[in-house]
Amino acid sequence: MATFASVNPARPTDVIGSFPSSTASDVDRAVATAGEAQPAWARVPVPARGEIIAAAGTLLASRKVELADLVAREAGKILLEAGGDVQEAIDMAHFVAGQSRAAWGETVPSELASKLCWTTRQPVGVVGMITPWNFPVAIPSWKIFPALLAGNGIVIKPSEHAPACCEAFVGACTDAGVPEALVQVVHGHAEPGAALATHPGVGALSFTGSVPTGRAVAASAMESGPRLVSLELGGKNAMVVRPDADLDLATDGAVFGAFGTAGQRCTSTSRLIVHPDVAGPLVDRIVKRAAELVAGDPTNPRADLGPVIDARAGERIAAMVDDAVAEGATVAHGASALHPDGCVGGTFFAPTVLTGVQPDHRIAREEVFGPVLAVLEVADLADAVDVVNSVEYGLSAAVYTSDIGTALSAVDAIDAGIVYVNAPTIGAEIPLPFGGTKHTGNGFREAGTRGIEQFSQVKTVYVDYSGRLQRAQLDNRPTPGAGDGT
Ligand code: NAD
Repeated sequence: MATFASVNPARPTDVIGSFPSSTASDVDRAVATAGEAQPAWARVPVPARGEIIAAAGTLLASRKVELADLVAREAGKILLEAGGDVQEAIDMAHFVAGQSRAAWGETVPSELASKLCWTTRQPVGVVGMITPWNFPVAIPSWKIFPALLAGNGIVIKPSEHAPACCEAFVGACTDAGVPEALVQVVHGHAEPGAALATHPGVGALSFTGSVPTGRAVAASAMESGPRLVSLELGGKNAMVVRPDADLDLATDGAVFGAFGTAGQRCTSTSRLIVHPDVAGPLVDRIVKRAAELVAGDPTNPRADLGPVIDARAGERIAAMVDDAVAEGATVAHGASALHPDGCVGGTFFAPTVLTGVQPDHRIAREEVFGPVLAVLEVADLADAVDVVNSVEYGLSAAVYTSDIGTALSAVDAIDAGIVYVNAPTIGAEIPLPFGGTKHTGNGFREAGTRGIEQFSQVKTVYVDYSGRLQRAQLDNRPTPGAGDGT
């Protein structure tokens, strides 16, 4: 059987493990196995499913230190952020477990006598999941816990950059009591992903990743059969800083938003849209802080900045920075690879600040997915919002101001799934919906009470116990002059 290695991006000679390159037949087997286990799981009462999910959360909490270490080694996230990744999964477990004892549908008074109307949720059977590497525990948890609560079987194909994290997460679920056959993991890159997306036994496909891959996967998934397809894709997130903003606060937000996780979050701050009156002092502060960030092995608690995921990512980021300079941007800081001690072969990129960026520059329009902040100077609030909205993405945005009217006007006008006021573009919390507008998604939201929607079908039920034919819209609201239809 062909295999591939998962390596530490900070030190690629550190091999995390070897994993099977799953084929389309492996995907067939996985879908069949999960599909056979699913009906029994669907018969487990929802609160009892919730108790098992809560137990998984408790187990994840007891394993948080070792899991965070694995996230740091395999995905290159610094320990603090790796711990946050695991914490998100713990929080998600307990949030979803709570939903098991909350409202499950709607009941609505009927317009007719002796008639009941309600909705309930049906599992879709087997859910196919394709996940990225950058939240290698959190994102599987966002999908797996609500899908389990809804009564489904699961086949997940994690990123080829984070197979061990997914195995460790699924292991905690099965150790907590989720039936082993119910959650199947297949590994590899495009082949198993494409096979899963188009498999006739998959009732819902949930994809998180880049826009180009997501578009292609969704098109083939829709063409090959009727199923729910949900997409959580990339971002080109902007922070708007108005002249009345607290510049220290904005500096903290920009540094964390742009350089946290080495800029490899879907919600990373990629554009700073700042009023010209405060652009100089704000950029000076950000550059000073960027220069102080310590790049290093993510498992070293002193490291502030981990690697980018692989050499290809490093080359892509460098090329985008070169293009920005060619288009007229100025490098205020960074723009080069870094080689921290003890990280031989690691792909580190310096926290980079580019000034003089214009809205039509490539660096202002395309997702970089690296520690690069493009600074655009815009005076008028409406113009700043236009620049925020001028890209094809619509995930997250932030506005920094001390004026409530300015803040709420921006909230109204920004076209994005998530808007922060005086907080960076990163930092979503579990109980609220997560997702974006435009090409960032297709309308579904993860997390929050709506997280279950992409993994279940709503069934509307009418029960008439009057013992006679009752006609909605006809019997109680006859049209004057019309017959009775008999
Ligand atoms: P990617 O699109 O390269 O890969 C995502 C997944 O798709 C991986 O599992 C990959 O193996 C698989 N894949 C690749 N080609 C495929 C194909 N032809 N058929 C089926 N599957 C295929 O993304 P990535 O580099 O892993 O992650 C980074 C991207 O994810 C960024 O664009 C980021 O913004 C986005 N992201 C979005 C969210 C969100 O919730 N909106 C969250 C995290 C990351």
